[in-house]
Amino acid sequence: MKLIIASNNKHKIYEIKKILGEKFEEILSLSEAGIDHETVEDGETFMQNAEKKAREICEISGCPSLADDSGITAHALGDRPGVYSARFSGGHGDDAANNALLLKLLEAEEDKTAHYTCAMVLAFPSGRILRSEGYMYGSITPDARGEHGFGYDPIFIAEGEERTVAEMSDEEKNAISHRGKALMGVLEQL
Ligand code: IMP
Repeated sequence: MKLIIASNNKHKIYEIKKILGEKFEEILSLSEAGIDHETVEDGETFMQNAEKKAREICEISGCPSLADDSGITAHALGDRPGVYSARFSGGHGDDAANNALLLKLLEAEEDKTAHYTCAMVLAFPSGRILRSEGYMYGSITPDARGEHGFGYDPIFIAEGEERTVAEMSDEEKNAISHRGKALMGVLEQL
């Protein structure tokens, strides 16, 4: 059976292939599947956005489709940036500007704790839906460092760690990440 991943993000594709690789004959990103479709992420929760993406790609491709929606929540800022993580500073996916804005808002806050959330949904053409959510808790450091990962990783230190997530190898991150945990949750239901 073929699986379509509703993403072209190399980090996500790599992580998903590693964890679900044995369950599917072929795993394709959106571009590998020749699908040019952008879901409007207008949900109020990560799960709503992930489910919308998974259902749309499943309908377009006719294949089981996996979608995730993820982001970071700084506890001193309520739910922010939350579902707006990718576009926190305005433009979509401007990591440097997003990190700078988060650090600025947290400057005066004593509580620097935060967590990543990942909602993962696998939609089958039969209508079957598998849902899973994973978290990674930690804190934000103004001392950005590291070259791995993406997004907020250079300023996020996971609980029990001294390095930022961007200083960890992909394998180390996958073992503790919100996305790794959400994927394991889907795998357990397969
Ligand atoms: P989306 O799930 O592709 O919509 O992206 C959500 C946004 O949340 C990303 O653009 C990043 O800013 C942030 N994000 C989600 N997961 C991670 C992660 O593992 N590391 C760093 N940033 C992340």
